[in-house]
Amino acid sequence: MRKARAPLRPFWPLLRRALGLRCPTCGESPLFLPWNRLRRLDDWFQPLDGCPRCGYAYEREPGYFLLAIWALNYSSTCIFGLVLFGILDRNFDLDVGQLLIATLLPMVIWSLLTIRRSKAIWLAIDRWLDPSL
Ligand SMILES: [Zn+2]
Repeated sequence: MRKARAPLRPFWPLLRRALGLRCPTCGESPLFLPWNRLRRLDDWFQPLDGCPRCGYAYEREPGYFLLAIWALNYSSTCIFGLVLFGILDRNFDLDVGQLLIATLLPMVIWSLLTIRRSKAIWLAIDRWLDPSL
């Protein structure tokens, strides 16, 4: 017999915590090291092991954040790039090379700046869909 699932909680508190890069469960502890404590580039991308306050594990297995990167980070980067390309193409008289450079460079920066939030939103979605984790 199948166990009845609990009704879904509201997503907005989880999303708010994710956008603040906070633990999706308690909202108190940070998900990542602050920028002034980064020792290497990899620290920017890697979440901490878990929440010291509530014990929620941020990364459960290798590849856990793969879909977060593909679905959230890459898609937002592509949408950003398409919008930027459209704005630049419509408003400035640039040749193709200039247009590509003016689009691709900001896309790389966008991707690096949004990777943490993509992982945080992924954690929030996971927590929202399966609160038992
Ligand atoms: Zn927590």
